[in-house]
Amino acid sequence: MFRVSQYMRELAQAEASGTYHTPALRGGGTAPGPVVIWNLIRRCNLTCKHCYSISADHEYAGELSTPEVFTVMDDLKAFRVPVLILSGGEPLMRHDIFEIAARAPRR
Ligand code: SF4
Repeated sequence: MFRVSQYMRELAQAEASGTYHTPALRGGGTAPGPVVIWNLIRRCNLTCKHCYSISADHEYAGELSTPEVFTVMDDLKAFRVPVLILSGGEPLMRHDIFEIAARAPRR
């Protein structure tokens, strides 16, 4: 299991000692990367008071295109991400969400 607190502690120690290695490279490079929760879109058609993404039901500038999402997915594969959670905003408001979701297990 990847623990963010442990990872951050290791980064701080590596920075202090002048060395650096990622958790994925420990143990001969076979360890999985971290689980990723990916906020694919900020737009959301709900208005929860506790909203963590300050979302609203309109377009936001800077959202990734489908090809850009696929490029990031390729990077996540290279990082050996074992689990990808698609979130938002409301990810179902992306026109390409099913295309993205179908591609994820293949990557
Ligand atoms: S992004 Fe999540 S928390 Fe925010 S309004 Fe939409 S459903 Fe609610």
